[in-house]
Amino acid sequence: MTSQRTRDRLVRQLEEAGIRNRRVLDVIANTPRHLFVDEALASRAYENTALPIGFGQTISQPYVVARMTEAVLEGGVRRRVLEVGTGSGYQAAVLAQLVERVYSVERIHGLQRQAREVCSALRIRNVSLRHSDGICGWPEQAPFDAIVLTAAPREVPEALLQQLAPGGVLVAPVGGDGGSQALVRITRHSDVFEQQFLESVSFVPMLPGTSR
Ligand code: SAH
Repeated sequence: MTSQRTRDRLVRQLEEAGIRNRRVLDVIANTPRHLFVDEALASRAYENTALPIGFGQTISQPYVVARMTEAVLEGGVRRRVLEVGTGSGYQAAVLAQLVERVYSVERIHGLQRQAREVCSALRIRNVSLRHSDGICGWPEQAPFDAIVLTAAPREVPEALLQQLAPGGVLVAPVGGDGGSQALVRITRHSDVFEQQFLESVSFVPMLPGTSR
């Protein structure tokens, strides 16, 4: 169920769905997604679908992880990347294999702790995790070459835009809670922000504050 053959099938599905970046596909083929979900769901870990990870949250669909990662890598060298919404830690683990350093914040302490355990079991050493409200970003570590939101705000928080380096990109699902949102890519040209629509997606909402 978690064999290389099952993982290769997932990669073929992603290619058919339009993912072209070979490095992204290779990283997905080599990242053990089954370790980021509950053991009871391990047999479904290489299906192209979102799965529950507890605390009312989900690990994103592999296609969406691949699409967002492609959008981050396109158009420039990305050394330092901030993720808002660590969840299971899977998206952070994928990014960590493609950029120099990943900073990821999560508002639910229990999820942040689990993600830390998996990343350390996998010996992923270039991910820094923090339990905090990602609406404020991570000002002490800014600026970032890219920022990825894996929970949907109604509007992109201003603090996050301000933490982008010139030439940096922010990739985020934007729109109301529930139903569908617009996946957008915002590029910072000094103080001008250029927005591009990528596709419709469905994410959990970005919520304020932190919880255990
Ligand atoms: N990237 C994750 C997807 C997790 S779902 C993965 O690969 O598994 C989105 C996550 O965003 C949830 O865990 C949710 O708790 C978190 N989240 C929502 N609002 C947040 C906020 N304001 N700050 C930090 N994390 C937030």
